[in-house]
Amino acid sequence: MKLIIMGPPGVGKGTQSHGIVQDTGVVHISTGDILRMAIRSGSELGLSIQDVMNAGDLIPDDLMMEVMKERLSHDDVQEGYLLDGFPRTPAQAMSFVKILDEIGQSVDRVLVMRAPADEIVRRLAGRITCRACNEVMNLVGFGRVTPTFCPFCGNDKDEERGKDALYQRADDTEATIRHRLEVFRKKTLPAAWILEERYPLFEIDGLGTTAEVAQRIKSVL
Ligand SMILES: [Zn+2]
Repeated sequence: MKLIIMGPPGVGKGTQSHGIVQDTGVVHISTGDILRMAIRSGSELGLSIQDVMNAGDLIPDDLMMEVMKERLSHDDVQEGYLLDGFPRTPAQAMSFVKILDEIGQSVDRVLVMRAPADEIVRRLAGRITCRACNEVMNLVGFGRVTPTFCPFCGNDKDEERGKDALYQRADDTEATIRHRLEVFRKKTLPAAWILEERYPLFEIDGLGTTAEVAQRIKSVL
């Protein structure tokens, strides 16, 4: 089973990907993993990627496509994979379809996870800032419980104002999240619709518990 999973930040894509891989035994392919793998292989392609990354630049689409093509030709993914986090733009989607045609492969399911923006903002609005050192961190990293002191500078209270050491800049956080959702809506969703012209695409409602969403995914696999 060859699968692609797409979704905005905060929709639960990571959790569901993990579940799909466990249930179906397909190989999880994330772009970060394949770039690291290409570099480790020491191939000419890997060396070019290393150069780009060393320079702190983003991997250009054409190089990304080369790596993807190379990864999809390996033996371990011939029976199935779950492609996570790719393609992200219409240009990548078009090149990706072309590559699959070239190597004679297809995709069995494209899963697009969706949730209302307000719900995602509610889930993700967890950034907290230290009043002393201004370091920004996310509550998710602390099990959603606000720590009583700053792990960066040790500040445990705001003596002057008698307030907690860490505080949430809600407006700021929400704006950032909404921007990322907008990027998903404008760039990644159109990529999904390009894939839909060639492969079966299913929109998955990301609302509800992890188990409920997993059940929806299972029903279309
Ligand atoms: Zn601090």
